[in-house]
Amino acid sequence: MRLILIGPPGSGKGTQAKLLSENLRLFHFATGDVLREAIEKDTSEGRKAKPFMTAGQLVPDAIVNEIVAAQFRGSDKPRDFVLDGYPRTIAQAIALDHVLAEQSLGLDAVVFLNGDDEEIVRRLGNRWTCPNTMCNAVYHALFKPAKVAGKCDLCQTPLYQRDDDKPATIRKRLQVFHECHDAILRHYRDQNLLIEVCGSGDIEAIHAKLVNTLRV
Ligand code: AMP
Repeated sequence: MRLILIGPPGSGKGTQAKLLSENLRLFHFATGDVLREAIEKDTSEGRKAKPFMTAGQLVPDAIVNEIVAAQFRGSDKPRDFVLDGYPRTIAQAIALDHVLAEQSLGLDAVVFLNGDDEEIVRRLGNRWTCPNTMCNAVYHALFKPAKVAGKCDLCQTPLYQRDDDKPATIRKRLQVFHECHDAILRHYRDQNLLIEVCGSGDIEAIHAKLVNTLRV
């Protein structure tokens, strides 16, 4: 199955994409994770992306499109995948259409995980991430706390709060999302691929709803 998950920052799309990838055996391709790893490794892409990410802005299309195209053109290109955090602009959606067509990979669905902005600000303020790039587990102080406060359950690395999870940055990211997402949703609605799912509530219940909606 080939999926795109679209949702405002904090709609839970990362968590849901991870669950879908584990349960449906899909390659989880999150551009945010790839970019954070590039920054950590101090690659040229990472150095270019960093100022945009810390300011809560989108990284320029050319950089992100190149990362995605390289993945799909590489020797370990995925056949079944869930794309998380990409595309985020109409230019990215068009670039992705071309790359997938070139690789003869059709999409099965584009899921829009909808959410309320105020709930999102509250949710993200409680989000803690494992900085270990081999792990990248995400916790939530209220909904999914680590067993030992401040430490990753999986690898025991001390958790941290991402710069782009700070309230002012969250509001900026939500504004950016709303400016771009209408055109993207229209793009996929026109292709009869769009499915809308409410992202409020319990993580497992939303996952069950997604699997049921995708009828797998
Ligand atoms: P995420 O982990 O998906 O919330 O992404 C974190 C940050 O990475 C975003 O706020 C952007 O700065 C950058 N980013 C991730 N994916 C993209 C993308 N498709 N286009 C532009 N910037 C992106």
